Amino acid sequence: MKVLIIDDDPDALAIARVRLKPEELDIVSHSDATTAVEAVRRETPDLVLLDIDMPGRSGFVICNQLQGDQDLGRIPVIFLSGSTDTADKVKGLDYGAVDYITKPFDAFELRARVRAALRTKRLQDMLAEYAQIDPLTGVANRRGLERHLRTEWSRAQRQGSVLAFALGDIDHFKNVNDQYGHPVGDKVLQAVARAIAGECREMDLPARYGGEEFAVLVPDTTAEHAWALAERCRKNVESVGVSAENQSVGVTISFGVADSIGVETPEDLLAQADKALYGAKESGRNAVSLG
Ligand code: GH3
Ligand code: MG
Ligand code: MG
Repeated sequence: MKVLIIDDDPDALAIARVRLKPEELDIVSHSDATTAVEAVRRETPDLVLLDIDMPGRSGFVICNQLQGDQDLGRIPVIFLSGSTDTADKVKGLDYGAVDYITKPFDAFELRARVRAALRTKRLQDMLAEYAQIDPLTGVANRRGLERHLRTEWSRAQRQGSVLAFALGDIDHFKNVNDQYGHPVGDKVLQAVARAIAGECREMDLPARYGGEEFAVLVPDTTAEHAWALAERCRKNVESVGVSAENQSVGVTISFGVADSIGVETPEDLLAQADKALYGAKESGRNAVSLG
C-alpha cells in the first residue's frame, strides 16, 4: 500500500521514511503545503501522514480540503505534530483525521498506528468494491455502473471522446419464472450476464442494471460500434441454455444503444438508450435499436 508523507521539514520526512521502512510500503513524500491537495490527487495514496505546522497552509486546512473532496475524502489522514496539546489533538481528530501522532515519534508506535489505519482502509476498500457488485451475477450492479458512468463521462468531456451505452432487457422473462420457477430464472440471469460479459473488452463495463436488465458502458466508442457489440451480446444470449426439467431453457434479449454525441448529461444518455430499447421491444424483441 502507498503512504504519502506531507511535511515541510526535510529531516522529518527522512526520519518518517526510515522509521516506516520495515513495513515495506510504497512511501512518497511532498514538502509544499500549498500544493499538498494536488499531490494527494496525483499520488492517490492509501494513507496520508500530514504535518500540521507548515508555511503557506496548515495541515488542518489541508485535511479539511481533503475531507470535502469527493475523490479524496475517503483517504485516511494521520496528523504528525510537535504539539502535545490536547486541544490540537482534539481539533485534528475533529477535522476528520483517523489518528494523531506527536513528534518526535516512537518508531514502534508510528508503525503500529500506520498499520492500524491501513487495516481499516483495506476493509473500507473491500466494502466499497462489494457494494458495487451484483451478488447473483458477479458483474457490476447499478451503483457500480453509475459510478463508472460519472467517471467515464468526465473523462470523455475532458478528452473530447465519445462514450456509448447499451441497455438490454430480457424478453418475456416473467414467463421463465412462471414456468420454471425463480431459481431457474436466477440461473438464466447468471448465464445471460456471462454471455454479455464474454463479449466485453477490458475497458467496457458490463452491469446488471435492474432485475432482468443489463447494460454495457462502452468508452471511446460511437453508438454504431456499440451497436455491433450489443448485436454480438444478443446473439450470445440467444445461444444460452440452462437445463431444467430435462430441457434447455433459453431466452432472448433486446438492446437500445446510444452515444454521448450531442447529449448533455449522463442521465440523458441513459434516457436515450432506454428509448431505443423501447423501440427494440416494439419492433418485436430480440433486436438491437440505435437511439
Ligand atoms: P418484456 O419482454 O416486455 O421485457 O417482458 P418481461 O416479462 O421480461 O418484463 P417484466 O418487466 O414484466 O418482467 C420482468 C421479470 O423479471 C419479473 C420479475 O419477476 C423478474 N425478475 C426480476 N429480478 C429477478 C431476479 O433477481 N430473479 C428472478 N428469477 N427473476 C427476476
Ligand atoms: Mg424489465
Ligand atoms: Mg424484460
